[in-house]
Amino acid sequence: MSQTKPTDTMAGQECPFCAQGVFKSCQVDYKATTPDEPEIIVKGVWVEKCSSCGEMVFPPDSSDYIAQVIAEETEQLTPAQLKEIRERLGVDQTQMSEILGLGDRTYHRWEKGTQYPSRSMCYYIRILGRFQTTFDWLKKREWRKDKATTKIMSRDEIEYRFPDYYRNIRPASVFEKDYNPAREFSSVFQ
Ligand SMILES: [Zn+2]
Repeated sequence: MSQTKPTDTMAGQECPFCAQGVFKSCQVDYKATTPDEPEIIVKGVWVEKCSSCGEMVFPPDSSDYIAQVIAEETEQLTPAQLKEIRERLGVDQTQMSEILGLGDRTYHRWEKGTQYPSRSMCYYIRILGRFQTTFDWLKKREWRKDKATTKIMSRDEIEYRFPDYYRNIRPASVFEKDYNPAREFSSVFQ
């Protein structure tokens, strides 16, 4: 893969950083860091470089190109793909941040392309994007509504885990032959 030379550039314009040189188009190898890969080299990225101070600026096409290469190398989602998934799920960026349990601006940075989500997070978002009901389940935090399940424990296990209960407040029925301890504990914990 190689980048085609961008047409919308600052080439020929005066450098605003030093006000001495002018920008010239050239290709560089761009070094990116992501949460999963220590270093990804994106080769042959078109930049504008000042002839005097050496300051470089990236045309928008080049930023997109870098994001695309990184996404392909790491199986990540590009900012454009993230946006598409989010819009399909029908939430804004702030909501998406909250639903995914992220920090305040984290999701915004992913969609802006100034920060990259981890590969595992991208797998996770792909699943959410594919199954709306899964996304809705997460969004509503449905697991909170699930009733605590009642586990049947053996007498030994009860004695071990709840020694005080077993010693002091066990009902007479504990000693009944077909007593189901789980029945007792479900009323204790509700
Ligand atoms: Zn300059």
